Amino acid sequence: MTDFHLNELDRRTFLATSATLIASTNMLHADAPPLAPPDKQPAHLQVPEVPSKTIGFAIVGLGQLALEQVLPAFAKCKVARPVALVSGHPDKAKKVAAAYGIDPRNLYNYQTYDKLADNREVDAIYIILPNSMHAEYTIRGFKAGKHVLCEKPMAISVAECTEMIAASKAANRKLMIAYRLRYEPFNMLAIDLCHQGELGKIKSITASHCQDVQAPNIRLSKALGGGPVGDVGIYCINAFRYLSGEEPVDVTATEYQPQDDTRFREVPESVAFTLRFPSGLLGCGDCSFGTAESRCFRVQGGNGILDMESAFGYRGQRLLLHKNGRLSEYQLAPVDHFAAEMDAFSESILTNQIPKTPGEEGLADIRIIEAIEESIRTGRISAVRH
Ligand code: NAD
Repeated sequence: MTDFHLNELDRRTFLATSATLIASTNMLHADAPPLAPPDKQPAHLQVPEVPSKTIGFAIVGLGQLALEQVLPAFAKCKVARPVALVSGHPDKAKKVAAAYGIDPRNLYNYQTYDKLADNREVDAIYIILPNSMHAEYTIRGFKAGKHVLCEKPMAISVAECTEMIAASKAANRKLMIAYRLRYEPFNMLAIDLCHQGELGKIKSITASHCQDVQAPNIRLSKALGGGPVGDVGIYCINAFRYLSGEEPVDVTATEYQPQDDTRFREVPESVAFTLRFPSGLLGCGDCSFGTAESRCFRVQGGNGILDMESAFGYRGQRLLLHKNGRLSEYQLAPVDHFAAEMDAFSESILTNQIPKTPGEEGLADIRIIEAIEESIRTGRISAVRH
């Protein structure tokens, strides 16, 4: 029998949340006095302050992620707001602008992109383009004097990442890589538990991120920087690093590219990799574009095991601790990952702090991806060049 229980941490979170819920339920109770007009609200009512300064974003690329996740997430943001769009499809851009209350004068295409420099409403640019275009549009964004939030993977080579970081420094503008899970409570709690020694010494982490990708898709194009490692395998790589707090020494990897499936003419279907870390920790990851969805990790330590279901998904995270013969599940309030990430970047701009996932964080993953590619090419262990 599985024994689910709340540990102390969960109980505290639960009590705090219940207290908030009870308070708000009481306010809506039928016996409550009639609501006071807005200008005569009781002094004890806490009304959130309107942020004195918000960060205006230009969204670059109106593809699936931008339309289905990022733009809807602005409704949940506290300080980030959409003010401009960059798209090669003017009709789509007009429709999207109307839906999100964006001034039609703030619509750009890839030829007029650099004119963002003259738009004072735009503080930051969010690059949501194919991976092979991340470096060019990030660097041009810095030349336009804007801060840049760039989707993962940061770019398609270490050389490009290095140029992007240099451009950020030259422009004195911030660069953040959109690792949304670093702003998501279940992954953040997993990091704390691992770093605080809840599992004892961590010996291995296994992680899997797979999905069934149908053509046509930028992920199946080599020229656009596709392939499973940069697209989904990178979540496993990033998780090994954020859960362990270590950087890997070397990598072994292997891939499979079927000859009888036209989707995989340019990129492999599946890649498996093992990273060795200085402490002796092994990180074993696999990624595929040809299976049903799988997005999980397991951290195995001397004193316990931590499992995360839907670890890399947009929602549905479940964090489970196996320790001392018991299985516990942590209860946390989920958040919109993209809203959390865009607000965090905005706060780092407003307070002039380095973002939690700066360019160097994206570069560290691309160094590992280059070592994975080298290991596949040579059939040998490849050192990660830090
Ligand atoms: P998509 O193919 O749906 O969108 C790509 C956009 O780029 C489209 O609007 C397309 O018109 C535009 N584009 C401009 N020039 C292009 C060209 N030459 N060829 C092809 N498209 C061109 O892709 P997507 O799923 O929205 O992914 C975009 C980026 O977001 C990728 O870098 C991907 O890795 C990243 N992404 C991140 C997450 C996440 O959870 N953080 C999830 C999905 C995608």
